[in-house]
Amino acid sequence: MMHYIVFDLEWNQSPKGKEGAVDHFPFEVIEIGAVKLDENRHPVGEFRQLISPTVYTQLHYKISEVTHLDMETLRREGVPFEIGMERFLTWCGEMYRFVTWGSMDLTELQRNMVYYGMEIPFPMPLLYYDLQKLYSLQYRDGKEKLSLDQAVEELQIPVEEEKPFHHALDDAYYTGKIMEKMEFALVKEFVSMDYYRLPEGDDEVILTFPNYTKFVSREFEVKEEALANKRVNDVICCCCHRMLRKKIRWFALNPKLYVCLAICPEHGLVRSKIRIKKSESGGVFAIRTSKLADEAEAKLISEKRNEMKQKRTEKNREKRHRIGKQRAERKKAEGQKAGQIKSEEKKAEEQKR
Ligand SMILES: [Zn+2]
Repeated sequence: MMHYIVFDLEWNQSPKGKEGAVDHFPFEVIEIGAVKLDENRHPVGEFRQLISPTVYTQLHYKISEVTHLDMETLRREGVPFEIGMERFLTWCGEMYRFVTWGSMDLTELQRNMVYYGMEIPFPMPLLYYDLQKLYSLQYRDGKEKLSLDQAVEELQIPVEEEKPFHHALDDAYYTGKIMEKMEFALVKEFVSMDYYRLPEGDDEVILTFPNYTKFVSREFEVKEEALANKRVNDVICCCCHRMLRKKIRWFALNPKLYVCLAICPEHGLVRSKIRIKKSESGGVFAIRTSKLADEAEAKLISEKRNEMKQKRTEKNREKRHRIGKQRAERKKAEGQKAGQIKSEEKKAEEQKR
């Protein structure tokens, strides 16, 4: 049977801030908490494990403020990360999908696994439910992010005194309660992909959603390389997957976001976006989404394109102006210098006479 593993992590970070942080290991997991839900989202089990830290052996003040944890408890009750993680994976079972509040936990969990030399047993792509996103899709605009306690309050889920927030198991418990109470069937198709590991070679990931498609590229060294790659910059219809002719070619909305407009002979206007993201190993990857667009949106894109074009022209003009001015000033300075030399020569000549 397929289970949902709703989990939450508590982590610690360098007490000295970024300077004292270890590369690729900004957060050290100190607690794993999870509830297991059956297919009908009813709880069937729970898991809690404290981890004794080895990297950041002092609690960051913010962490000790919000969690109940202290170093002594972690040392006394915690186990090494590898052991805790093995226990967690065994408890998860065979068939499951992870559910988290927000998109950070799976990435940080894998960073910790890699740091301790563990192999990552998860499938590729690693799909999961970001319940914070699903909550927003159902009750908000799909973008606004609510904190866990806000959502708990909105859904009038009773907060139990012995279950305060910011304990891994309690946060997992409330996330599970939200999942149980939501009309999950309505948003169930909006699965998320964890980007810690990226596709390799031509095995890019294509995810199909009710109203859009998402393409996740492999890793590239730099943005320009990603944008020049045909597999990234081709636009494919989100309905029939046919390759499309572009009506407005790719242009930048900002250095990390590109947009274009294409036409499908069968489905009409298709708007595509490329988002450039940093990869774990310091390169970049591209996420391209495509959805059907109406005339109003097409007009908006066209206006935006003109606006960006104008901005670029102005920038270039300013640049030319600046360079011209610098050149003129240099010439003037050189001229003055030459004049000076000349007048000095003249003086010398006069003195000779
Ligand atoms: Zn089509």
